[in-house]
Amino acid sequence: MSKVKPPKSKGIPSKHLHARTTFLYQAATYLTLQTASNQAVDDPLADDQASSQTRSPVAIRLCSDLQQVSRKAQLRLSVHLKRTMCKRCNTVLVPGRTATQIVENLSKGGKKPWADVLVLKCTTCGGKKKFPVGATKQPKKKDRIVVTEDDTSTTSPGDLQEPDSAVQTSTEIDSNTG
Ligand SMILES: [Zn+2]
Repeated sequence: MSKVKPPKSKGIPSKHLHARTTFLYQAATYLTLQTASNQAVDDPLADDQASSQTRSPVAIRLCSDLQQVSRKAQLRLSVHLKRTMCKRCNTVLVPGRTATQIVENLSKGGKKPWADVLVLKCTTCGGKKKFPVGATKQPKKKDRIVVTEDDTSTTSPGDLQEPDSAVQTSTEIDSNTG
């Protein structure tokens, strides 16, 4: 029996799975916000009950489903989506509701502005996510400018030194030595 290849579908492959992950994420976010807002309205004295109400079990279930779908189908989730989900407890991280957001700088005296790190802490499980904010992202390997020893005219974009002045100084050095 010969294998008949299915006709190639146009557009995004596994579109229905993308739709499913999007729906799961939106539903989980909605439920998380609903639960969090209900908890905020409640009596602040009832802390013991409130802590159990902060997390919606349905939202966590939806989030774990979302993770499973993405793993099974090998879907690459968007960066925003990944950054707003806790890896440990599958809570949707909403700053101010289910997560706390602070900027940390662990450099000596906090002097290095590029050492700023955004720390998103899950209030449910205490898990932390860290994202660099001050540092400039290193360009991809293919985008990097390769400076070879033979070709000295190639300058990186970050190089502020003008090529003309560089040539002048080199000639001056030559005249001094010669
Ligand atoms: Zn968590």
